[in-house]
Amino acid sequence: MQLLIDCHKDTKSQRNSLEPLCLRGKKEKMNYQNTLEFAKELDANDSLKDFRQKFFLPQHEGKDCIYFTGNSLGLQAKTTSQYVQQELDDWAKLGVEGHFHARKPWMPYHEIFPKQLSAIVGCRENEVVVMNSLTVNLHLLMVSFYRPTKTRYKIICEAKAFPSDQYAFETQAKYHGFNPGDAVIEVSPREGEYTLRKEDIISAIHQHGDSVAVVLFGGVNYYTGQLFDMKAITEAAHAVGAYAGYDLAHAAGNVELQLHDWKVDFACWCSYKYLNSGPGGIAGVYINEKHVANADLPRFAGWWGYKKETRFKMQKGFDPISTAEGWQLSNAPVLSMAAHKASLDIFEEAGMERLHEKRKKLVDYLLFIIDDCNSKTSEKIIEVITPAEDKERGCQVSMLMLKNGKEIFTQLTRQGVIADWREPNVIRVAPVPLYNSFEDIYRFGNIISSIIK
Ligand SMILES: *Cc1c(COP(=O)(O)O)cnc(C)c1O
Repeated sequence: MQLLIDCHKDTKSQRNSLEPLCLRGKKEKMNYQNTLEFAKELDANDSLKDFRQKFFLPQHEGKDCIYFTGNSLGLQAKTTSQYVQQELDDWAKLGVEGHFHARKPWMPYHEIFPKQLSAIVGCRENEVVVMNSLTVNLHLLMVSFYRPTKTRYKIICEAKAFPSDQYAFETQAKYHGFNPGDAVIEVSPREGEYTLRKEDIISAIHQHGDSVAVVLFGGVNYYTGQLFDMKAITEAAHAVGAYAGYDLAHAAGNVELQLHDWKVDFACWCSYKYLNSGPGGIAGVYINEKHVANADLPRFAGWWGYKKETRFKMQKGFDPISTAEGWQLSNAPVLSMAAHKASLDIFEEAGMERLHEKRKKLVDYLLFIIDDCNSKTSEKIIEVITPAEDKERGCQVSMLMLKNGKEIFTQLTRQGVIADWREPNVIRVAPVPLYNSFEDIYRFGNIISSIIK
């Protein structure tokens, strides 16, 4: 066992070793053990183990819940209230003067985000802005990037995209006078499969060719947990002359993103899932550098997108900021942004590289534990529909329950596991590297095993 732990720790030499990655993964999995002692060893060797203490964990019978819904609402950092309180105090003390004299002045408050966010989504600082909420931003981006013509009017997306996205696509198509049945093209998994094949996505894009206006995928599908190959999808979209955009609600703060290098045109995400910034929190937008300075790109504008030097001349004629900030409408909602800042400071301290490394190990261990639970029942109860390949998933593992799903879910809840249920029969669990432990996963396995026995 000691040997295995050492090899887990020593990721640098792992990366440099000549052994193929797939084999390495298999070997590690083979060595995993479904014991408390083993899980505790993994935790002891986890360089991020102290980060759990930075968050409030919901309690169940005097103990930490097993919180596996960071994909739905991330936990509150213990520092969040201080960040928000600071703004309340400055407001109390300064009133309107807080716009200039608050400790973090409110007028340029949003300017504190691009540095940290660009590290999380992989872009330049002028390509990212924090504003509004997710679905609002999706619509605003479609105003700029979905401008259909008679011949080029299609939106290509994944089947079973998150409902809010489906409604956005449908109503955008209608708004432009198109029948959503013709304009919105959903790429579905093959018969008997749960997730999409990359080649099917690419060939759908090529098949619809120059009738495609925009390819708009989730980065990670909310239901299956499948991570799409955004680089390849973007290339295919560009090859047919379409824009490529992504809803990163389940990807931001979760998986590796290189939006700029992948030449993604635009993207948006919420901050309350993996980014732990509070219910309904302020959302994020990315717009590629090649578009941000294009003042002719149509948009729905507001005064906060106006050039800062001349904004307060309050003159006619919209003159946009030549960065992603040019898409802002309103002045900064500082209370919500303060919570976001508290969270991003923690992300910066942890570092994305360490988070990605731990995420992969957590999910590997979870898959091993689920396998082990399955092996102890006479018939298979749990089918994991999330792709097995590491590069096709993030934190989330979606378990299709082949029998008594709802009952098992209810039992899990009673025993202090906070997971989530998605109709008709999927339980989603997402161990997140900032605050979940290997022990959480071991305990989860223990509980689910005792339920399905
Ligand atoms: C969570 C989520 C949403 C939610 O949208 P809001 O506007 O924040 O309510 C939208 N799309 C996707 C893909 C999501 O995962």
